[in-house]
Amino acid sequence: MAAQDSTTRGRKGRTAGDNGPDPGIDFDLAIVGGGFSGLCTAWHLLTDKRLPPSFNCVVIEPCERLGAGLAYRTDSPRHLLNVRAKGMSITEGDPGSFARWLATAAPEFSPADFAPRGLYRRYINDCLSRARAQRPDTLTVLRDEVRAVEEKTGAGRYRLELQSGRTILARSVVLAIGNLPPKAERYTDLLCPPWGLHTDYRRLETLAIVGAGLTALDVILEAEASGFAGRYTVVSPRGQFPLPHGEPHLPVPPELHTWAAELAAERPRLRALLHAFQRRRKAGCGWEQLVDALRRHAPSIWSRLSPDDKRRFLRHLRMPWNLHLHRSCHRSMEVVKRLEETGRLHLVAARVTGAERCAGAAGPAVRLRLQHGPAPALDADLAVNGTGLFCDILRTESPLVAQLIAGRLATPDEFHLGLKVNGAGQLISADGLEQPGLFTVGTLRRGAELECTAVPEIRRQVRVMAEELIRLLAGDTGSH
Ligand SMILES: Cc1cc2nc3c(=O)[nH]c(=O)nc-3n(C[C@H](O)[C@H](O)[C@H](O)COP(=O)(O)OP(=O)(O)OC[C@H]3O[C@@H](n4cnc5c(N)ncnc54)[C@H](O)[C@@H]3O)c2cc1C
Repeated sequence: MAAQDSTTRGRKGRTAGDNGPDPGIDFDLAIVGGGFSGLCTAWHLLTDKRLPPSFNCVVIEPCERLGAGLAYRTDSPRHLLNVRAKGMSITEGDPGSFARWLATAAPEFSPADFAPRGLYRRYINDCLSRARAQRPDTLTVLRDEVRAVEEKTGAGRYRLELQSGRTILARSVVLAIGNLPPKAERYTDLLCPPWGLHTDYRRLETLAIVGAGLTALDVILEAEASGFAGRYTVVSPRGQFPLPHGEPHLPVPPELHTWAAELAAERPRLRALLHAFQRRRKAGCGWEQLVDALRRHAPSIWSRLSPDDKRRFLRHLRMPWNLHLHRSCHRSMEVVKRLEETGRLHLVAARVTGAERCAGAAGPAVRLRLQHGPAPALDADLAVNGTGLFCDILRTESPLVAQLIAGRLATPDEFHLGLKVNGAGQLISADGLEQPGLFTVGTLRRGAELECTAVPEIRRQVRVMAEELIRLLAGDTGSH
């Protein structure tokens, strides 16, 4: 579904084009970002019977397609989800929802399959369309970007400034701005972005990919399908690809769920956690099931670790944890394995510190400078940026995040992984106060919850946050 520029009606039918000064269009809720998190929030509210009939809400998203974000904008059948269909329902309340949708829309995929990510975008949009049909005229979609959120006015509204110059007023705001690109390094303009690469792969002999995560796998699968027959060099500090999902899938046994819940309740130190994990491994438990069992409790375990333990985890364990938790579909890894075995793909452990254009018309186009690698430089016909999106919140390209921090409405967590929030995702201001009605969902909660970027975590956050929003709305309705 394309985002409609339907800035037509806010409360009282006011339009941005009415004569006189634009006082802003007045909504109960503004959802900033129309990726999965934004649409999941809208869906949870629109399908909640407790929602007041007068409720009106706007989703503001600059991209044409809703539900896309970086993850689901792709239409390539080779770009697969890295979570099985049965784990990707929009709501915890109906875990079979996506698998049922697939059974009708794409019956070639079973609940245990890794479906194409473009199909998932269609599913999210279908969910939202059905919810909107139940509540016509409740949700407005605006194609725009929010540049600033100003402190609540005397009338209890946040004022949102949009890229187009319009303003919106909203009683509550949910920031669902997702995966923020890191500020470009000086050299990164010589690296191509990983998605939507329109290049003739058949002309290339060498392809360098910076980063060895799930993004690198996307690039390799697309290059293979587009006729690339040359050599890949994949560079990452650890020189490791993500681990593949086990096949067949072994669900977590109930006793491991109990083990993980009890462990989390003990508020363990990091060392105790590692010992408990190793004891279970020695007792014969598979690492995949142990990691999956701990995943659900990751936010509560993380929030209770001491700052020193958090620092140790981030320095020494974050990478191995990510490799084991954010696994890839085994079919994608089989392609990589085959390429390694036939000598077409080399994985190099090194850090890329710079890039420059190679001189001369013939020969490789880019030279990457490497640190701690087998050679000081790597030449390639094309270099692609596959480094992923994990970065310091103070070093992102988002003007909105910078404005929120500068305006003291938000404050970075101690490790600059995201913004400080309470348990429902409400922002904590620079003065240490909960910002009334100002929430975030998804990646910006990373400092508080660690695991918060994938669908299973986001829909849980949304469920809790939606309760809080409904409570606020119930309190507000009298003042309309
Ligand atoms: C390549 C890739 C593959 C993935 N695969 C999976 C998977 O298989 N399973 C899984 O569970 N998770 C997966 N993920 C994790 C993914 O992050 C989440 O599933 C989900 O996409 C997060 O949604 P989001 O809405 O929080 O963020 P995003 O998808 O990033 O959406 C955020 C939206 O906010 C908009 N926005 C940003 N700033 C503003 C602003 N100032 N004003 C208005 N709008 C703004 C953006 O345009 C964007 O559309 C993947 C991630 C990536 C990058």
